Amino acid sequence: MVWKWIGLLLVFLLVTLSALTFQYYLPGEFRELRVAPGEFPAGKEAGSIDYGKTPVLYRNLRFDHNRISYSLEETCPAVNKEKMIEGFAELSNKINVISFYETEGEPDIQVSCSEEDIEIESNLFVAGEGGPTKIINASAFGIIKQGKILLYEEPRCDYPVVEIHELLHVLGFDHSTNPNNILFNVSRCDQRVTSDIVRLLDELYSIEALPDLSIEDLVASTKGRYLDFNVTVENIGLMDSSESSLTVSSGGKEIHKFDLGAIKAGAKGTLKAQNVKLFSSDSSSIEFTIDRENTIRELKEGNNLIRMIVSS
Ligand SMILES: [Zn+2]
Repeated sequence: MVWKWIGLLLVFLLVTLSALTFQYYLPGEFRELRVAPGEFPAGKEAGSIDYGKTPVLYRNLRFDHNRISYSLEETCPAVNKEKMIEGFAELSNKINVISFYETEGEPDIQVSCSEEDIEIESNLFVAGEGGPTKIINASAFGIIKQGKILLYEEPRCDYPVVEIHELLHVLGFDHSTNPNNILFNVSRCDQRVTSDIVRLLDELYSIEALPDLSIEDLVASTKGRYLDFNVTVENIGLMDSSESSLTVSSGGKEIHKFDLGAIKAGAKGTLKAQNVKLFSSDSSSIEFTIDRENTIRELKEGNNLIRMIVSS
């Protein structure tokens, strides 16, 4: 008799257990997740630098370091070399946060000279040329990787007008319509660096060069207790990031952590995950966080988290 009861009990337990297991693994109804209201961080909002009327080639364009190297081509006449060095010294005197130094290695700015006079109009000669030659677009910033200055003439002024004019082109400035501004398209010996240029460079190079990981795109859905998602993470900052991760959590509790690897400045990484098991089928809010442990110092930390909720 006792054995009969025990047998029945076992059968009952087995049935219950398999029913529960079945329910546990049963894929439920498909539910699309959407970003919780007001939660998508404005990742691409570039710094708050006010450019006013100062003409620039691109906004938020800079080198990713403040000590900028240059090299002067062997073939440059000594007078050109001297005046160019004066130009570098004069600009770094005005802008406290940046400095220039000569290097034997691969320079940030290559200075070359050409003996040919280049005529652009009947009586106008180009004294020089300058500009960034390699830029990485990192959304919030344009990162200058390389610049070039080409000097065509022997210096005519005591003050390094042409040299600073070309150097400012490398740093991203365009021509000014003010004839007294050193960035006016025709050079004159009494032109100088205007205060707006000093202020802008000061502000731009006072920003600490850091990476900035940002969730740029996220699509997610659940089916019962399983989550599928596709996320794009972009480094919109000035520096490459170290190894990073994306953590999926619900109610602040970690569900799973995914490696994102290191992301270079200006680069994007995408991650696609399927059947990530949630705590329960009614997880109504799921958080996606980059660098949840906060091991990476970033320009902005506010664009690392997105909370998704079940669409109603
Ligand atoms: Zn120019």
